[in-house]
Amino acid sequence: MEEFKDFTEAHTCKETLKAFEKLCVKLGLDNVPHEEFFDQLSYGLSKNWKFKRFLDHLKNKFQDTGKGKATKILIVGAGPCGLRIAIETAFLGCKVVLIDKRDAFTRNNVLHLWPFTVTDLKNIGIKQFFGRFCCGELDHISIRRLQLSLLKIALVVGVEVHTNVEFEGLKCPQKNGGTGWKAVCKPQNHKVSDFEFDVLVAATGARDALCEYKLQNENGIVIKQGFDRKEFRGRLSIAITANFVNSNTPAEMKAKEIGGVSSHFHQQLFKDLKTKKKIHLENFVYYKDETHYFVMTATKASLLQRRVFREDFPDASQLMERKNIDVQSLLAYARDAANFCTNNAMANINFAKNSRGVDDVAMLDFSSKFEAANASHVVERNGKKLLIGLIGDSLLEPFWPQGTGCARGFLGAFDTAWMIKNWKSMNAEPLEIIAERECVYKVLSQTTPNNIKKKYSDYTIDPKSRYPSINMKAVTAKKAKQFYDDVQDD
Ligand code: FAD
Repeated sequence: MEEFKDFTEAHTCKETLKAFEKLCVKLGLDNVPHEEFFDQLSYGLSKNWKFKRFLDHLKNKFQDTGKGKATKILIVGAGPCGLRIAIETAFLGCKVVLIDKRDAFTRNNVLHLWPFTVTDLKNIGIKQFFGRFCCGELDHISIRRLQLSLLKIALVVGVEVHTNVEFEGLKCPQKNGGTGWKAVCKPQNHKVSDFEFDVLVAATGARDALCEYKLQNENGIVIKQGFDRKEFRGRLSIAITANFVNSNTPAEMKAKEIGGVSSHFHQQLFKDLKTKKKIHLENFVYYKDETHYFVMTATKASLLQRRVFREDFPDASQLMERKNIDVQSLLAYARDAANFCTNNAMANINFAKNSRGVDDVAMLDFSSKFEAANASHVVERNGKKLLIGLIGDSLLEPFWPQGTGCARGFLGAFDTAWMIKNWKSMNAEPLEIIAERECVYKVLSQTTPNNIKKKYSDYTIDPKSRYPSINMKAVTAKKAKQFYDDVQDD
């Protein structure tokens, strides 16, 4: 079937959504209730034995979560974490709507994957859409490829996805049992504005962590305090990422990946780089993925010496301002470092282009990192409760060179899915549910590939299946009251 082929082979977010819409129309699934969607899709595609095997595998993941509420979830953000939790909550039988303010997956940058994320992604069938997943020596995937593959799985399991829709805030439920919680979106007249939900998950990335949001009630719009953030400021730390076109030539294939070397352990390499090229690095990573991807931490002194910074400023934000960066010198710095550490493998290769169509080299300041003070929040108005969860970079900003972004992002997504499962099944009081979520959140920033449970095939959304120990008394229901907002004073 042509529509099915177009869907599986689609290369961009836009193409995928369009092809899936056409496939649904072809199979008569455009108006099917979400509870029946997956079964009807499976029936419609049952003649394709290979895909049917994949669908049968996914079918086993849908859980019978009992009578509970017919939970409706709005997820904001189609990054890897928003997409991952969308899939997991669809397995719980929830109606899931996912929005993103953008309509393109453009990040060439490559994510290092902890072993459990490799098992997890294989388990939800990533190879169905990306056969070459983790076939090399080191485990990694480009951000855009991960988003594309997860988007396809999310659509198959019944997640409704809308792009070019920006979340701006919340509309309170009406009094006397009228409508439920709704979103204030841009564009205002988008159909998502009519969707009523009882759980909101913000997966909006590091820059936007729902610290405050608009709350619209009968009296107009007020600005609500959302999630508090804690800032961790360390010494100046500057990362450079660079992507080169990968044409898979025999010469390129010979280039050896570098899974992370630090100046401490490879003193000679870093010393030579400093003397011969005036490049002083603290660490360096090279992944051969859809692009040749490099990430390195560079010292300010060497960036000044190579005139990447035009002027020196003690203040990091002034130093990193666009007008203080000489782009040509930055490109030369990145190329020289990449070349030196790969025995000149990048000498004649062009930089890949980024979403703006320019050479994909970026410089970022890692001196400060944000963490949300808490992971969950309940707002109650006119008798209707809304559970809000933060996940991914908006919950806990990663330190890229350690590859924590995707791994901790997925762990947090599973933990939040567990909270939603408890919320849905009403097994406990709301305060107990958010207290448990906060206890689990306390473990997240401490996780490493070595201190989580090793039997990855046993992982579920239940935090106990993944973390060896959690102090379930760290946050009590009484303490969690501060995360419950039912003050009708807006
Ligand atoms: P993101 O991937 O940031 O996705 C957030 C999504 O939310 C975006 O699609 C955004 O459009 C959407 N959004 C935000 N606000 C709204 C709103 N109000 N309404 C609707 N949609 C909204 N990690 C590495 O390990 N190595 C790297 O080299 C690396 N490079 C990166 C480069 C960039 C430019 C960025 C932004 C991140 C990078 N990271 C990198 C971090 C890594 O991408 C994340 O850890 C990982 O993608 C998980 O992120 P997430 O899903 O939480 O959020």
